[in-house]
Amino acid sequence: MSAISATPLVPSLFAWATGDKLKNWAGNIDYSTDNLHSASSPEDVRAFIKQQRTLKVLGTRHCFNKIADSSDYFLSLKSMDQVIALDPRAPSVIVAAGITYGKLSPYLHEKGFALHNLASLPHISVAGACSTATHGSGEKNANLSTAVSALQFVTGDGEIVNLSREKDDEMFRGAVVGLGALGAITTLTLDLQPTFLMRQYVYENLPLRQLQDHFDAIESSGYSVSLFTDWQKQRINELWIKSRTESGRAFDAKPEFFGAKLASRNLHPIAELSAENCTEQMGVPGPWYERLPHFRMGFTPSAGKELQSEYFVPRQHAVEAILAIERLRDQISPHLLISEIRAIAADNLWLSPCYKQPSVTIHFTWKQDWPAVRALLPIIERELAPFNPRPHWGKLFTISPAQLKTSYEKLPEFLQLAKKLDPQGKFRNAFLNSNLFGS
Ligand SMILES: Cc1cc2nc3c(=O)[nH]c(=O)nc-3n(C[C@H](O)[C@H](O)[C@H](O)COP(=O)(O)OP(=O)(O)OC[C@H]3O[C@@H](n4cnc5c(N)ncnc54)[C@H](O)[C@@H]3O)c2cc1C
Repeated sequence: MSAISATPLVPSLFAWATGDKLKNWAGNIDYSTDNLHSASSPEDVRAFIKQQRTLKVLGTRHCFNKIADSSDYFLSLKSMDQVIALDPRAPSVIVAAGITYGKLSPYLHEKGFALHNLASLPHISVAGACSTATHGSGEKNANLSTAVSALQFVTGDGEIVNLSREKDDEMFRGAVVGLGALGAITTLTLDLQPTFLMRQYVYENLPLRQLQDHFDAIESSGYSVSLFTDWQKQRINELWIKSRTESGRAFDAKPEFFGAKLASRNLHPIAELSAENCTEQMGVPGPWYERLPHFRMGFTPSAGKELQSEYFVPRQHAVEAILAIERLRDQISPHLLISEIRAIAADNLWLSPCYKQPSVTIHFTWKQDWPAVRALLPIIERELAPFNPRPHWGKLFTISPAQLKTSYEKLPEFLQLAKKLDPQGKFRNAFLNSNLFGS
């Protein structure tokens, strides 16, 4: 989630062209170099990679930590953002890696197709999102990278590698959530389904007690369900239910739902803020890509004065984990803008935080005060430790590399895969070295 200070300003990727230092979207990371090469073709990507000692591919810069950082060179595929081919029979689509969900989704809908899910905002690149296991919500919906059925990428020595779910099994499952460590993804093939309509309903003030007693019923009430809370007053401030309209799947919106009251106007996750940049609510039907994200594509936030952290816990411990965080409310609240709780289905991608584990995520959108947040994260992580929390790869965490190692049973195989595809370590950076490669 969020985009709390989302206002329609300058298109985000040109921010540094005005002379500003190259930063991430939130502005909390000054990247270590301003050197950036913008590639326009796969040949250009190959030639550029061959020349570099180390580099990182930059997506839409929406990560809050230094996972995308480079001290030498950035490669941007922003202008490689075309739909390459749509196969209506599969159905599937091949896209160039720089495309955003915001550009791809209306095209798919117009052709009669849909993706299975989207994140809270559509402005992110497909390659960057899939590389970090970005997710939406819905207990039956796995993260966005599970829609990938094939990948093409360029390795450190400029070779083109094609991997597919069908042919490459294990290696493919290791490469999809690649954290940018394996090469530069140039195309992705994504699974599609027939397009669908959705309605979005928001309820206010769900008592925490009701969530405790009816967690499964609440989570299964819609195709995608989000719980927003400031952890105050023993309640979930807002419950967002995104429901498909087909008969048998539609949510029957009664004025009251487990003690929460149906909202009578569109709401922002922080009720005091204007809902102008939020997707339509109040049960108004609309295409999947205008209901699954919380924020509308038309509003391009140039930057967001916020920080984010998010932890995945096994679904069976969701209520205990939520209650553990609630006990920290007095420490958390002064630094918090809002929290969001979502459910995600299990998958089989090696570095996905949902690897073989149906999960619930507890997300924090923080005020932009890193010293305060950095002091708080170990306290939160300690409280969640009994549930073996896995942090979101693109957000802020202080969990140790040793702990990450015990959380990912396929990490040794991933490291081998990285060594095989990138023996010179061209795509490594300080984040990957300290968190994964142990150097
Ligand atoms: C306002 C906001 C809302 C968000 N909402 C959600 C949400 O709902 N759910 C969620 O899970 N996350 C969410 N996130 C986090 C976000 O989805 C991830 O950080 C995601 O990785 C962003 O994609 P990006 O293209 O901006 O990545 P970047 O930050 O640009 O890069 C991320 C990683 O991907 C790699 N990469 C990018 N492109 C390529 C490529 N072509 N080849 C190889 N590697 C590549 C980079 O090297 C880097 O390692 C949100 C972030 C923000 C700022």
